[in-house]
Amino acid sequence: MTRALIIGAGVGGLTTAIALRRAGIEPVIYEAYDEPDDYVGLFLNTASNGLDALRALDVDIARRADGFPIPRMIMWSGTGKRLGEVANGTTLPDGTVSVCVRRGELQKQLRATVRDAGIAIEFGKRLDSYRNVTGGVTARFTDGTEVTGDLLIGADGIHSRTRRLLDPHAPAPRFTGLLSVGGFSRGTGLEPTTNTQHFVFGKRAFFGYLVRESGETYWFANLHRPDEPNRQELAGVTPGQWRQHMLDQFADDMPVVRHILNNLVGEVGAYPVYDIPTSPIWHSGPVALIGDAVHATSPSAGQGASMAMEDAVVLAQCLRDAPDTTTAYTTYERLRRPRVEKVVAYSKTLSNSKTAGPVARVFRDLMMPVALKLFASPKSHAWMYDHHIDWNHRIAA
Ligand SMILES: Cc1cc2nc3c(=O)[nH]c(=O)nc-3n(C[C@H](O)[C@H](O)[C@H](O)COP(=O)(O)OP(=O)(O)OC[C@H]3O[C@@H](n4cnc5c(N)ncnc54)[C@H](O)[C@@H]3O)c2cc1C
Repeated sequence: MTRALIIGAGVGGLTTAIALRRAGIEPVIYEAYDEPDDYVGLFLNTASNGLDALRALDVDIARRADGFPIPRMIMWSGTGKRLGEVANGTTLPDGTVSVCVRRGELQKQLRATVRDAGIAIEFGKRLDSYRNVTGGVTARFTDGTEVTGDLLIGADGIHSRTRRLLDPHAPAPRFTGLLSVGGFSRGTGLEPTTNTQHFVFGKRAFFGYLVRESGETYWFANLHRPDEPNRQELAGVTPGQWRQHMLDQFADDMPVVRHILNNLVGEVGAYPVYDIPTSPIWHSGPVALIGDAVHATSPSAGQGASMAMEDAVVLAQCLRDAPDTTTAYTTYERLRRPRVEKVVAYSKTLSNSKTAGPVARVFRDLMMPVALKLFASPKSHAWMYDHHIDWNHRIAA
């Protein structure tokens, strides 16, 4: 049986393992972290097309994970003017809609599915290098151990080591000029925002929030940041300092934003936002890339995880149906590249609208209600959300 080494146990790597097993391939996952972290990251919009891709593998994450359904998004200007409403994905035939899920919870449930399928995940295995060997590939980890397989799939995220090894000249991730800061608040007394996530285009920054039935509030802010911050600088900022900084940033905007910030609990996560508009090389010999490792999108479209899930399913179908690995990888790239690059570009335009200057802001607040009606209808987003993958469909090379 073909043996695949999957590098990375994020959303993409885990989904790849489930899909490859279905395709009759024996996967093993190697993850750099020493152990699973159920509280990693903040929360993700898992869009209906991503949920649908998982359904192709009979995985029902919307039900399994503790998600909050968000079929619609309401946009506000910082001054409190309602700019309009946009559908967040489509409704799947059984009524499932896009959900917001904690990243740790999503990964935990995918890991459980992987384990149920009897697939091994080895933690504390950080890929250092690989070399092609007769009929396969040998991966070397930073702990000095090695393992050999027939295929190696790099699902190791935006700063992918696999990508660098595969193509030393691959463009570095592009910093988008945004810093995403987020966390949780309790005791706000706000009504649950049932089925809805709210977005506020503030004077200086952008804010998103939802309130669960329990009263717990999930929020994030996108702050304008012209220069790329380094990790050390961000790690040194305390939750109290973040709160004060954001209270200043949203001082002139809807009071609900400051109310949520004043009730934050626990840690505040801060992430510079990057994307990768295009990667010249997606695969070579026995090695291929998926997810953020090859086409990271900025979070504005809420599609990065869904793209990784779709990649995983399509890659497995190609390996199942193609006569050899090169044909499978070439077909996978042909099927996926146009779609993912379109999503990355679309998400970047959304990111740009969050950092408008004073003049553009006035124009945006005037025009957005019209633009949302004209260009943000379910029909105009159908290319993104209505993408359906039928597992039984045979892929032609
Ligand atoms: C602030 C923020 C908000 C976001 N919001 C959303 C959202 O709402 N909706 C959405 O769909 N997407 C969102 N995204 C994007 C989403 O997080 C990614 O697109 C998605 O996680 C990609 O999955 P992946 O498996 O390709 O990579 P990752 O999730 O990054 O997983 C990569 C894995 O590889 C491991 N790894 C790294 N290097 C090595 C190595 N050398 N050896 C072994 N293992 C390694 C990592 O530890 C990690 O576990 C957001 C991203 C950010 C930064």
